[in-house]
Amino acid sequence: MSANAPQPIGASTAAADISAKEATYLPPSELAIKYAKGIHNHSPAAPHPSSTASGSNPHLIKKIEHFYIRPRWLFVRIETEGGVVGWGEATCEGHTESVQGSLDDMARRLVGWDAMNIEDIYTFMYRARFYRGGPTLMSALSGIDIALWDIKGKVLGVPVWQLLGGKVRERCNVYGWVGGDRPSDVLEQAKVRKAQGFTRVKMNATESIGWLDSPHALDETVQRLADIKAIGMDAGLDFHGRLHKPMAKQLAKLLEPHRPLFIEEPLLPGHPKEMKDLYDKVNIPIALGERLFTREDYRPYFEERCIDIAQPDIAHSGGITETKKIATMAEAYDIGIAPHCPLGPLAFAASLQIGFCTPNFVVCEMSWKMHYNTGGFDLFTYMKNPEVFAVKQGAIELLTGPGLGIELNEELIRSEAQEAAKLDPWINPIFRGPDGAVREW
Ligand SMILES: [Mg+2]
Repeated sequence: MSANAPQPIGASTAAADISAKEATYLPPSELAIKYAKGIHNHSPAAPHPSSTASGSNPHLIKKIEHFYIRPRWLFVRIETEGGVVGWGEATCEGHTESVQGSLDDMARRLVGWDAMNIEDIYTFMYRARFYRGGPTLMSALSGIDIALWDIKGKVLGVPVWQLLGGKVRERCNVYGWVGGDRPSDVLEQAKVRKAQGFTRVKMNATESIGWLDSPHALDETVQRLADIKAIGMDAGLDFHGRLHKPMAKQLAKLLEPHRPLFIEEPLLPGHPKEMKDLYDKVNIPIALGERLFTREDYRPYFEERCIDIAQPDIAHSGGITETKKIATMAEAYDIGIAPHCPLGPLAFAASLQIGFCTPNFVVCEMSWKMHYNTGGFDLFTYMKNPEVFAVKQGAIELLTGPGLGIELNEELIRSEAQEAAKLDPWINPIFRGPDGAVREW
């Protein structure tokens, strides 16, 4: 047992004494040097069979790479000295180069750390670098964190949900998209989704809309929801932060009789008190969270009691480590979790891993055949085992493979990354009103 290994309560072994002395007497400057590459465990209990580093720690991080690939995804690949490879996703839609820069910085710092010490790595990357939070740093950290959980699951031969307390359900509910950025023809698309196995869909509530627009601008939205409900499906409506208070409260009231599954981002992030005002006016479940990062960002919404569903995006919110904590925190406020995930297969698999082990999980977004997945690139393009994501009665069956439970075509990812590097990364559309002023996308 190494000096750093956990000691049973009451143990008085020599190793425990040494550990206690180090903890007590090493001055801070020496502790900083000692732990410059994290808390190492040089005696792993179960070395991965692929390890060839006899006598050394096979779990040390050897290499961190990232790959921007179409349609708009940023994958992270971490390889250990023992040859175990974990994959994560750090996609931050429209901000690819920023996250790539942050990943380069993190990769430089983390080579040589023990990949098994996820909590220590997360804490170091979040707390020890002074600046924290936000889409760029947190998306990069999320990608690394997800890859580390993939590694740990593969090393131990179990799915991630097994590492987080075990399963609480056999399948996870999912929903698909209809309508695109400018919703139309949603009824026909909803019929297709129904044939694909979905029972729920989500759509944008409106096109771009003015701060104070004509009330007529809301009429088609109400009709679209009524049409979809008429074929026996449920639908969430994503306000997308496009509506400001004058229009949001009108639309929420108009939708109420048609009972949407939820309304999402009815106001922009940063307005928990205004959200509370809206919350008190309508009986529709309110969902929000794709633009919030870590528990700290969620806290005012929980304490204000102004949302019903939290929607952390696992590729932005802090990965598996932080999303599980957000979910646990939400449960204390009787708030459900519906992971936001219009992204790639790694973010989706990681979100489902949370779903399988989290009591207050309700539904997960799925990007299969979504309007952003263009050019022949879709959720299954880079997967060797897409059958694990088969949609049956609106749900995905338990993922049973080790780690994230999906297998990727690395050769295709590497070749596509070379092609995608010649192109400008994806950016979101820009909306302007008839007066020329910028509107929310
Ligand atoms: Mg949304």
